[in-house]
Amino acid sequence: STMPALLASLSNAAKNGILFKSGVFLEKLSLVNVIAFDKTGTLTKGHPTVKHAEFLHSSWSKEELNSIIYEIEKNSIHPLAKAINEHLKIHQVKKPIELTAFEDVPGMGVKAHIQETIWKIGNREWTDITEKQECELLMKIDDATVDTGHTVVFVTANDQLVAYFLLGDTIRDETVKAIKDLQAKQILTIMLTGDSKRGAEKVGRIAKVDEIGYSCMPEDKVSTVKKWREKEAVVAMIGDGVNDAPALAIADIGVAMGMGSDAAIETADVVLVKNDLSKLLYAMQLSERLSRIIK
Ligand code: ADP
Ligand code: MG
Repeated sequence: STMPALLASLSNAAKNGILFKSGVFLEKLSLVNVIAFDKTGTLTKGHPTVKHAEFLHSSWSKEELNSIIYEIEKNSIHPLAKAINEHLKIHQVKKPIELTAFEDVPGMGVKAHIQETIWKIGNREWTDITEKQECELLMKIDDATVDTGHTVVFVTANDQLVAYFLLGDTIRDETVKAIKDLQAKQILTIMLTGDSKRGAEKVGRIAKVDEIGYSCMPEDKVSTVKKWREKEAVVAMIGDGVNDAPALAIADIGVAMGMGSDAAIETADVVLVKNDLSKLLYAMQLSERLSRIIK
């Protein structure tokens, strides 16, 4: 019987912080030949910090903008929202601000109404900023600072740009080696991110993934996974965000980071409890060994 070998492997995995929701996925893991990675929180640590903030001349003072941005981002669980609010260092606004129609669109940003004004905070697409405009804004910041950041978050009030933030996050210590080791196993590595082309390429170059998909909405992550499955590949998707959950569900094997959102952890088939990407390789080795025993 293969049962004792399977149980031993599952318990070995668990001891190493790899939780399989079913033995089936441990058996299947050695067959994976395409892995799609989310960027923020998966290849990177997911603790971005603000490297540069700019408040443009507008009808609102810097103090007013600070309070407004804080009040809106307070409603979002996105790591960028947390980073911005930590940077703003506000713990309670002086005058209460009444928000209505708050919306949080995964992969895009947030939106809220305050009296007559529609506020949007998020990426270029979400705030209708052109690539040219972004380049011009970044040119005003010194190169050394721009190098530390890869994500730009824009703030618009009734479609007028009033502020922007440059945020940076660090690549996980094990990311580069994990990607290299997977490639040595002939596994195609793809990074899928909701972030812009610029941000995606900065991280993609360091991690040396084979392919990059940027400005991905949750359904774009799904269609990439589907595309590879239709080519008869065995696809694993690994992510942490609410925006990754649909792709985790459709992959042959969905892997969630332990620090990830509830949606990702509930949808995934495997959880990397300690957020350590090198455990993915360890799990693959367990799976390979298991398949040799079973055969
Ligand atoms: P990833 O796929 O790399 O994990 P996300 O899909 O979570 O990235 O986010 C994509 C982009 O959406 C971010 O880079 C950011 O520009 C924007 N965004 C999403 N939510 C927010 C928010 N609450 N505040 C600011 N920007 C946001
Ligand atoms: Mg993420």
